[in-house]
Amino acid sequence: MTPDLECSALTKRFGDTTAVENVSFQVPPGSFFSILGPSGCGKTTIMRMIAGFLEPSEGDIRIKGKSVLNVAPNKRPVNMVFQHLALFPMMNIAENIGYGLRRQGMDKTQIGRKVDEALDRIGLPGIGSRKVDELSGGQKQRVAIARCMVLEPDVLLLDEPLGALDLKLRERMKVELKSLQAAFDTTFVYITHDQSEALVMSDNIAVMNNGQFEQMGSGQDLYYRPESAFVAGFVGDTNRWQGKVTRKEGDAIELVTENGLTLRGATHGRDLSDGQQADVFVRPEAIRIAHDAADLAHFDNRISGRVTSLLFNGAASRILVGSEDGREEIEVNLPQSGEFSSIAKGDAVHIGWASDQGNCF
Ligand code: ATP
Repeated sequence: MTPDLECSALTKRFGDTTAVENVSFQVPPGSFFSILGPSGCGKTTIMRMIAGFLEPSEGDIRIKGKSVLNVAPNKRPVNMVFQHLALFPMMNIAENIGYGLRRQGMDKTQIGRKVDEALDRIGLPGIGSRKVDELSGGQKQRVAIARCMVLEPDVLLLDEPLGALDLKLRERMKVELKSLQAAFDTTFVYITHDQSEALVMSDNIAVMNNGQFEQMGSGQDLYYRPESAFVAGFVGDTNRWQGKVTRKEGDAIELVTENGLTLRGATHGRDLSDGQQADVFVRPEAIRIAHDAADLAHFDNRISGRVTSLLFNGAASRILVGSEDGREEIEVNLPQSGEFSSIAKGDAVHIGWASDQGNCF
């Protein structure tokens, strides 16, 4: 099937700065694709090239199989939702949604029908005559998307559209955006620096760093099978240690940190050898905690310490354990259970994890 969007070997240079370097990806029809990366990594530059506001230095952009490099921004079958939704305050909701259609010269009755249809799809029927400032942040967000979607773009570009919302609304909108995408059955390309947004909504995610794609895959791929230290550290919460490799046997590896901690992990096929510096990543939920060291005897990584903080968080709880020598603080996640209620701040505890849970790079 022809992808809705295909970028090949896309590069953008601004003088001496290479903002985007040799980026290639395809987005299949009707899917939700996110570009996830820290501030300044080049996400917006990619979006602006797709929208036509910036010309690539090299590479090609095809929408439904056709190159759009020589197509003016307003003629490209894409539309863009910005962080500041840019609804027109002087127009009511229906006029806002119908704005692009009026500019295309569509007749009034048809516009009215399309606007009503869009309001239904976004779950806000009958609000066409309201003013923009009578809507909540989440409703404005939906209207901004409807305003783009009535133009029936092949691809909708969303540039950190949840950035201006408060935390609670952002949580809800993550789920809503995903269902809006399904309701309109349109390809969404979403950029964000927030890994939890990308994980919740996307069919596929590209993790970007320094102008390049580090890894592309589903949220689960990135979380469970990161291919670089950057991805392991950027996607999901993790404990991280740096150390020197002291032993290697097949996939199993032993390393000693600067603080003298001996840790065992797995290379998962990566090339690491004796004496080399390495990073080991351990997810907080992979670590077990117990009052009695004997309960963790079967783990080949064990640390003794004291609970320094305990954060109850509903379904799961986060515990910070400080090592006995005070040089380490390890994050442990526990599902809500009896196990947690028996642990208190200040308790002497032991933690342990299996070596294959220590992902080494
Ligand atoms: P943020 O999340 O902060 O918006 P980003 O990942 O979208 O960041 P870009 O805005 O794409 O990053 O910027 C990537 C790099 O390109 C940065 O180093 C930036 O300073 C540089 N850059 C972007 N636009 C220009 C420009 N018009 N001229 C010169 N340098 C630019």
